[in-house]
Amino acid sequence: MTATDVMTTSALPQVTLTLEGVTTYVRMRKLLRPVILDVGFFVRPGEIVGLVGESGSGKSMTARTIAGALPRGAVAEGVVGLGEENLLTVSRRRRREVQGKQIGMIFQDPKAYIDPLWRVEVHMTEGMRVHLGLSKSEARARAIDLLSAVGLDQPERRMRQFPEELSGGMLQRVMIAGALSVEPSILLADEATTALDVTTQAEIVSLLGRLRAERGLSVLFITHDLALADQICDRICVMYAGRIVEVREGRGIFEDPLHPYTKDLLAARPNIRKRVARLPVIKGTPTSAMDAPSGCAFHPRCRFAVEACTTTFPQLTAVSGGFVRCIRAGEQLWSEPRAEKGQTASETEGNSAAGG
Ligand code: SF4
Repeated sequence: MTATDVMTTSALPQVTLTLEGVTTYVRMRKLLRPVILDVGFFVRPGEIVGLVGESGSGKSMTARTIAGALPRGAVAEGVVGLGEENLLTVSRRRRREVQGKQIGMIFQDPKAYIDPLWRVEVHMTEGMRVHLGLSKSEARARAIDLLSAVGLDQPERRMRQFPEELSGGMLQRVMIAGALSVEPSILLADEATTALDVTTQAEIVSLLGRLRAERGLSVLFITHDLALADQICDRICVMYAGRIVEVREGRGIFEDPLHPYTKDLLAARPNIRKRVARLPVIKGTPTSAMDAPSGCAFHPRCRFAVEACTTTFPQLTAVSGGFVRCIRAGEQLWSEPRAEKGQTASETEGNSAAGG
């Protein structure tokens, strides 16, 4: 069974975004080298789906493939389905049209994406005038409403300001309002809170949750921060070496992780309830899709690797409430008790160790 077979829902109604068997190559010294491989998942209306993993795992390349923002010379194949269309096979012109209007994007550093010479008003109204055909005054009125909806006070004053006059959190709200201004089908949030302080991070995450509830917004939430993903995501896909290695609904990966990589990522998180001299680390370094070893890409770092892991490529298979890519997934590889609701498996482990 392939990732495409188990991860896609072409048969299901009401899917905003579907990826099926998406593989993306970048050009390096005239050769095409893979950066993501056979990636498949879906996002329904009003859902927030998390894409998590270490740097280099392929999360951002997945987002860039969806948004049509690949580096020059890169090639993507498979299905990026939005509505009835596969964005990887439509004409370039049509792809730009769809991606400009139906996909909103927010990034880690809003300053890098907002022209410092433009007042907020220009940033906010340009997309609405181009994609929705609104007049200047209509776009302006809608921009003020949107700035207010994302929690910016004095929206009319903000419209007159330049980016340098706003804090990082305020700018990220402007980015979100700008992304929503063309009424996209989906918002791609690529490490959108990483550059912010923790209080502002919490506010932006709460804002995305509110927009989902109020507007039925679909979000692909890309992050290396599992705690943030835990707060907001309905489903989480874990990526390693350009492939999805685990997918779970709700808090599944936190309560009962199935893949050794997920398990170790969770164990490496700081935990205020568990006092340790040193945080556990995952040995070795992350690998990319193009440098992945044979067999399971995680085998050089895996505590549970056996000889077969070096030669057998693990398929993504259905296992107790999720999907996992591990040839030992059916075995009981670790023994701590399952976590209670609202608690992670590693917290349970910590409490047990502390005698709690
Ligand atoms: Fe570890 Fe083997 Fe499973 Fe890969 S297939 S995660 S190396 S146990």
